[in-house]
Amino acid sequence: MPETKLKIRLLGDPGLRKASKPVRQVTEGHRQVLSQMAGLMYESSGVGLAASQVGIYESMIVTDTGSGLYKLINPKVVKKEGSQVTEEGCLSVPGVCIKVKRARKVLVEAQDENGKPVSIEARDLLACVFQHEIDHLKGRLIVDYASFWERLKISRKLKGLSRKSGIPREAGKRGSRDEKLPESKAESCKLQL
Ligand code: ZN
Repeated sequence: MPETKLKIRLLGDPGLRKASKPVRQVTEGHRQVLSQMAGLMYESSGVGLAASQVGIYESMIVTDTGSGLYKLINPKVVKKEGSQVTEEGCLSVPGVCIKVKRARKVLVEAQDENGKPVSIEARDLLACVFQHEIDHLKGRLIVDYASFWERLKISRKLKGLSRKSGIPREAGKRGSRDEKLPESKAESCKLQL
């Protein structure tokens, strides 16, 4: 894998909608990407990051909710229990905060960075973060959980983001005034993942 600086992809980048491929053989390249992803997550004050958010479509995530760093390969939720609703932000959808209902407790099976199978029981915040990142690996984003009214409220922000990410829009030519990203209110959503 090339030794380049990773960059977080924003909503509108079609790669965010791609399903990631499972990693068959864990290599030094995967370990390097995982540690770069962890660095980028900390730099961005995030608590989780999925490889598809940096344009790598292999099943890998990193998380740290304060109780330690997890670098996981091929993570899967194999058991769910209970429910919780959390206001989630996403590093790929800056300035947007959406209430998402997820399981309160999950059992995640994965491999660590050496390819060793691991099984993690997580609850509350960590469970939420694992589910958010595993969603990314399936091409699923928090905006998919937005209610009709939430969608309406955030639609202007989303349009701004699509332009920012350099994806051409079919809807004719726009003046340069439309090009700027709306003011980010990311700090209003504590949880960035
Ligand atoms: Zn996210």
